[in-house]
Amino acid sequence: MPDSPTTSNAQAAGANLWTCPFCPLLCDDITLAPTGDQRLAAPHTACTRLEASLAHFGPQDANRHPAIDGQPTDLASALSQAAAILSSARRPLFGGLATDVAGARALYELCAQCGAILDHLHGDTLADSNRALQDRGSFFTTLSEVRSRADLVIVFACRPSQRYPRFYERAIGEGRDVNIVFVGCDIDEAAHARAEAILRDTDPFDTLALWSAHVEGGRPIPTPDLVALTERIKTAHYTAFVYEPSAFAGPHAALAIEALQRIVKAINRTARAGALALTGDDGAASVNQAITWLSGFPLRTRVAYGMPLDHDTHRYRTETLLRRGEIDALLWVSSFAPEPLPASLADDVPAIILGHPSTQTPARKGPTVFIPVATPGIDSGGHLFRVDTSVVAPLAAARSVVLPTVASIASQLAQARRPS
Ligand code: SF4
Repeated sequence: MPDSPTTSNAQAAGANLWTCPFCPLLCDDITLAPTGDQRLAAPHTACTRLEASLAHFGPQDANRHPAIDGQPTDLASALSQAAAILSSARRPLFGGLATDVAGARALYELCAQCGAILDHLHGDTLADSNRALQDRGSFFTTLSEVRSRADLVIVFACRPSQRYPRFYERAIGEGRDVNIVFVGCDIDEAAHARAEAILRDTDPFDTLALWSAHVEGGRPIPTPDLVALTERIKTAHYTAFVYEPSAFAGPHAALAIEALQRIVKAINRTARAGALALTGDDGAASVNQAITWLSGFPLRTRVAYGMPLDHDTHRYRTETLLRRGEIDALLWVSSFAPEPLPASLADDVPAIILGHPSTQTPARKGPTVFIPVATPGIDSGGHLFRVDTSVVAPLAAARSVVLPTVASIASQLAQARRPS
C-alpha cells in the first residue's frame, strides 16, 4: 500500500501528528492544539474546511445526552426505543451513513437483520461514479502518483480548492515542473503551478463530445485549443486528469465521467495518463468500499437475511424513497458534522439519529430518537479510505470526550433485536 507524501514526512519528523477526517484528502501532517476555551484548533494548517469542521466541536459536547422526542434520556432508554422502531419497521432506510469503516461494517449487520436499504448522504455522486465504473471501467491514478509523476495536470470543469482546500499542496510536488490546464472552467486561484484555462465558457458535455471524437475517432474538430492540448498530452511524461463528479450539473453526470474515462483510455494507447476523481466526502468512499466488500454490491442496496441482495441505483435513492413514502423508518447517521434530516422526510416517519453531538434535533410528529456519537478522528480512532481509495488511513482520537462510536451503537442495536 503506497504511503501518502505527507505520511512519509510525518514519519520522518517523528512528530505527534494528526490525520484530518474532514475530507477525503486525509491530510496527516497536522498539529492540533487545544484552545483556551477547550476547543480544537490547527494553528499551523491553512485549511478553511478543517477550520469550519473543528468549529462544530466544543466543551459542551461532553454533556450532550441522548434524547427521545426531544426529551433528554439515558443511553439504555434511547437504545431500547431505537430497537423498537427498527423491530416494527418493514422497510427501513439507513441513510446519511457518514461514518468510517467500522461503522459501515456494524451497520451492515444491523441492516441485514432489519431488511434495510443503504444509501449515503452523497449517494447521487457515488451512484454516478459507480455507474461509470461499471459501464466503462476506469484509468485511475493516486495522489502520490500525481505528485511524483505528473508533469501535466488537466483540471476538468471544476475548482478543486473550493471543497478540497489543500488539494494543490497535496497533489503538486514542490520543485517539480508542472503545468496545470483548466478545461471548461476558470483558473483556480489556489493553483500554485503554472496555470492556464481553455474553453472556460463551453458546456463540458460539448467539450467531451468533441475531444472524444478527436482522440478516439481521429476526427478533425473545430476547436484548436483542444487539438493543441491533445498534442501536449502526447509529449508529456504523465498527464493526470482531475475532476469532481459532483461538479457535473444535471442528471447525466455518469455520462460525462464515462466520456472523460474514454478519453483517458484512448490517450493511453500512445501516452501515459490517469484520472483522479475528487469525491468520497463524509465517509462515502469508505462506506461504499466496505459495503461492496461485504455484499458484492455498492450502496443503494437492500440487504436482508434469507433474501437475495437487491441493488437498484434509481429505486433506492434516498430522495426517491422519501418522496414516494416508500420507507417506514429512517436510521440517519451523521458523525462528521451536524447534518439535518432530509427535508423530504415525512414528519410522521419514525427516525433514529446517530449524530454529531452538536446536532439540533427537530420537533417532529413521528417518534424520534437521537444518540450523540463519536466523530472518528476526534472522539475515537477509526479508518477512512483516502480519495484515491488506494490508502486506508488510521485515525486517532484528538480529545477525551466519551461518546459511543457508530459501530458500538449499531452492534448494541443488533444485539437488542436478536432473539434470545
Ligand atoms: S484539505 Fe481536507 S483533509 Fe486536508 S486539512 Fe483540509 S479538510 Fe482536512
